[in-house]
Amino acid sequence: MEQLTNQFQSTVKELLIRHQSVLDILTKGQEASARVNRAVVKSVTNCGCLAIEAQRQPIPEDATLLDLKQLLDSNLKGKLCDSCHDIIEAEIGKQLFYIAALANTLDISLSEVIVKEQKKLSTLTIFNMT
Ligand SMILES: [Zn+2]
Repeated sequence: MEQLTNQFQSTVKELLIRHQSVLDILTKGQEASARVNRAVVKSVTNCGCLAIEAQRQPIPEDATLLDLKQLLDSNLKGKLCDSCHDIIEAEIGKQLFYIAALANTLDISLSEVIVKEQKKLSTLTIFNMT
């Protein structure tokens, strides 16, 4: 994995010529994030392969935190069609590009970020997750 993230950061570094300023990276990254959200919403409102069904989810008073994992859901119904899947995947890729660009600019290794985050997550219990 370290090799893949290092290679990805190198490729981003080579390709990022026009928007090298941290200001461009931050704002283009924010735009990429919005485009991911927009693509997910369009899978609901334009394509219709997904639906969002959301309401207050009743939680029994005696529910344990482990029960909550089963009781609470994503509010999504349906399944991404191939077209929406490809579009969202591409938008997430663009978002990763700007995350890598920001990491490059600040001399941060994505591999180290992932390792540290994974270590942090693996020490959490379900009690820390709510
Ligand atoms: Zn779709």
